[in-house]
Amino acid sequence: MRIDPTHGTKVHVVGSRQSRPVLATNVASGSCPVCVEGLEAPEEYVVRWFPNRWPAMPDERCEVVLYSPDHHATWSSMTVAHIEKVIELWVERTDALAVRDNVDCVFVFENRGAELGATIEHPHGQIYAFDHMPTRSRERLTWTPRFDSHLTVTNNASWRCAVPAASAYPVALELWPTEQRQDLMSLTSQQRRGLADILHDVMSRLDRLYATPLPYMLWINQRDFSATTTHDHWLHIEIVSPWRGPNLMRYIAAAEVGTGEYFNPVTPESLAATLADRAE
Ligand SMILES: [Zn+2]
Repeated sequence: MRIDPTHGTKVHVVGSRQSRPVLATNVASGSCPVCVEGLEAPEEYVVRWFPNRWPAMPDERCEVVLYSPDHHATWSSMTVAHIEKVIELWVERTDALAVRDNVDCVFVFENRGAELGATIEHPHGQIYAFDHMPTRSRERLTWTPRFDSHLTVTNNASWRCAVPAASAYPVALELWPTEQRQDLMSLTSQQRRGLADILHDVMSRLDRLYATPLPYMLWINQRDFSATTTHDHWLHIEIVSPWRGPNLMRYIAAAEVGTGEYFNPVTPESLAATLADRAE
């Protein structure tokens, strides 16, 4: 890992990833590596994980999580009971990685859509286990919920979803448990069910936003597993998309890359109102 001398930005130089295949999967020809009987999923499964064959970091820190054996499944097509299985696997893998002495941050995430560089269509996420807290993940340890009815998308008995007031992305959401928890393992069974329910609901709204499947990034911010003292971290999930309209990318370009400031053409309040209206 190298560190930029001016900005302190950490850069993982991973030349080996240039050789990973881009899998334009065709389920009919049986070429999907994660459909049942594929290279990475030789046996039937409900949810499944395996080490990434093209890891971005050494020492078994990169894993792939398969959400469903159904090549075409989405968060909105999966039942709440099935989504709970995905969450249980996130919990199991976070727990297994967090106990390692050389893991501080367990970063659970998903990139969906070729627009965001996803190389496999099949519904899946990933986990990176860092040996340090990345800068932004550390900054998110101080995040706390803010309640603004104009930014609320939806609530259930144990979770809330809202648009952040100063989102850098045209589509951005934050989800958090109403009762504070610091990591996935400490969620109660009721909170896990609530998370499954709100993910199913919110992801369905996102796909209805532009009436076409939305490319998005999703990630989970959880506590620093090396910290010996307890802090006030509040587990939360962020979901963002670069689309400012149907099939319309908002590119992060010179004025943003060069200054670190963002110009967002979508008003967060109007996004919240639109998504609040997109219930099933
Ligand atoms: Zn598949």
